[in-house]
Amino acid sequence: MLDKRQFYINGAWVNPRAGTDFNVIDPSTEEPCAVISLGGQADTDAAVAAAKAALPAFMHSDPAERLALVQRIYDVYKARAEDMGKAISMEMGAPIDMALSSQTGAGIGHIKNFIRAFEQVEFVAPLGDHAPEDRIIKEAVGVCALITPWNWPMNQVTLKVIPALLAGCTMVLKPSEIAPLSSLLFAEILDEAGVPKGVFNLVNGDGPGVGTQLSGHPDVDMVSFTGSTRAGIAISKNAAETLKKVHLELGGKGANIVFADADEKAVRRGAMHCFNNTGQSCNAPTRMLVERSIYDQAVEIAAETAQKTAVASAHEPGRHIGPLVSQAQFDKVQDLIQKGIDEGARLVAGGLGRPEGVNRGYFVRPTVFADVNNDMTIAREEIFGPVLSIIPFEGEEEAIRIANDTPYGLTNYLQSQDGARRNRVARHLRSGMVEMNGKPRGAGSPFGGMKQSGTGREGGIWGIEDFLEVKAVSGWSPEDE
Ligand code: NAD
Repeated sequence: MLDKRQFYINGAWVNPRAGTDFNVIDPSTEEPCAVISLGGQADTDAAVAAAKAALPAFMHSDPAERLALVQRIYDVYKARAEDMGKAISMEMGAPIDMALSSQTGAGIGHIKNFIRAFEQVEFVAPLGDHAPEDRIIKEAVGVCALITPWNWPMNQVTLKVIPALLAGCTMVLKPSEIAPLSSLLFAEILDEAGVPKGVFNLVNGDGPGVGTQLSGHPDVDMVSFTGSTRAGIAISKNAAETLKKVHLELGGKGANIVFADADEKAVRRGAMHCFNNTGQSCNAPTRMLVERSIYDQAVEIAAETAQKTAVASAHEPGRHIGPLVSQAQFDKVQDLIQKGIDEGARLVAGGLGRPEGVNRGYFVRPTVFADVNNDMTIAREEIFGPVLSIIPFEGEEEAIRIANDTPYGLTNYLQSQDGARRNRVARHLRSGMVEMNGKPRGAGSPFGGMKQSGTGREGGIWGIEDFLEVKAVSGWSPEDE
């Protein structure tokens, strides 16, 4: 078993000051694969103090130096990509091929996009010709607490750490205690790339411990969080005492509206997207809204897609889906499948228990419910498992009403060959993102939600600006620029 108890503070690997041991469980085997330490107040304080001490020099450093640092991180990350894929696969159960490609690759993509977006940031800009001695200066927000979940670990860590570095912020990262190994490797990568002492710090811990200590810490200026809406609310309340800037990427319950004129692969594509990463994505299209005239056919295709979705160990190569991340997630998903049955949804694929022949590991059966109505628990709660709910609709207006009838507003999806309809419906969907006809959003596109899916946007120029304050200055001397 790996011993990963140390934290990265002030440019060095250090023993915990107030830690308790915590086992990281391999979800494919249910066996511990590493031991980490959950830090205490003394660890949090040491990391925040290091970030605070490093701030003045780093926030006023030359932006070109910070860009060069991120370029070095990009190179080292790519060189360690194989180790990264293995760490992610072991800690959270993404099948090894998918962990190496999509999971590790998400980090590579984000770093590259931020390097490109950085060119567009204007650190000093004139207000306008009417005010020649005014300047609008962008400067680092300050010391940031970055709190991340386990489902797409490097996606979420790079979406926070890289723009924070480019903006000139210093930071303490607290990754999910369930999947901390990829972040520990990421700290090694930053160290090798030569991040200045104190600029980046990592302390492991849980929500009630280090998470809460960070969100309430008087010397932390901003919290950037991705995870559950429950934790997002707790963080917002705790951060309110010191009026920190709070950025939240929370849950989702995305609708995928399939009109009768959708392309023939639309239903299959939608079901596969829902099951990807074993359903553990905040932007998963979990409610499939299908126009009545193609409803029966769509239910059949979705059920068949679920039946054909292979489930196997994360350690095996191939295009199957892996286990859920933990016993807690397994129990939660089982409970919600039972609720779907109890509330009268029609189970057409999958169901309770593990797939046939499997008796250990947090494996679940890809599941499809038909005849779901939008008031059922499975249509309202984020399940975070491979469970698709199919809801019939009649006409555009009803589709929009059902799609928007949710506390969430992260990503909605739409399938139709009618361009005018696509544009019209996209405008009416209350979500931070709308993806249509299976076209992924382009590189550097902003990621984030409306309503209870969060505040703020990550990725591209928006993601960097989130870590910048705006300072308005008058009486500026243009000759001395
Ligand atoms: P979580 O929100 O509890 O944990 C995410 C991160 O927040 C972890 O690092 C955790 O230690 C930390 N945290 C938890 N409570 C905190 C608090 N009060 N203060 C500060 N930090 C805190 O998520 P989870 O328990 O891992 O998963 C529970 C549910 O959250 C899932 O079933 C899923 O619905 C949802 N979830 C959503 C996303 C997303 O990307 N939107 C990601 C992971 C989980």
